[in-house]
Amino acid sequence: MTRLENFISRMTAQRDILDQVCPEVAKMEGLVLELGLGNGRTFHHLRERLPGRRIVVFDRELSAHASSIPDAEDFVLGEIRETAKRFIGIDAALVHADIGTGYDDRDAVTSTWLPDLIASLLRVGGFAVSGTPLDHPLLQRLPPPPSVPADRYFVCRRV
Ligand code: SAM
Repeated sequence: MTRLENFISRMTAQRDILDQVCPEVAKMEGLVLELGLGNGRTFHHLRERLPGRRIVVFDRELSAHASSIPDAEDFVLGEIRETAKRFIGIDAALVHADIGTGYDDRDAVTSTWLPDLIASLLRVGGFAVSGTPLDHPLLQRLPPPPSVPADRYFVCRRV
């Protein structure tokens, strides 16, 4: 697979998984947390799919397209591993983490702390969607939509 094909496959997986979980998220209370704003594309998608829902967004920098910048009070600047700690116990309905790098060694480091963090941010029944695996006893892996190849992007439910 070329890097272009890999990119397209990741974007498609993000869209299809977010579209799968958003109708469920819409039925439950709780914040939506977007870990990794980047260009803001998935933030923009979540804002469209979950109108009126508060979405708190985290990144170490603000470099999104002008159309996809969160309100100042909903943007948390800094290293997610540290900044998200103050949200532990917030009972989020959805945490989406798109902070994979494409480098296996770096993503392996992220996998040492991200699953624990996400499990502590979600309410029971809440959803986690991530580009990196979320191996954690409280995060039950769900099958992605048929359009998403195995292990392309991950969707879990907090038990
Ligand atoms: N989903 C976004 C979109 O649709 O535009 C793209 C996210 S981009 C792939 C990843 C972003 O996460 C980058 O902006 C990067 O700065 C941020 N990021 C990655 N790891 C981070 C960390 N540990 N703490 C804070 N920000 C991080």
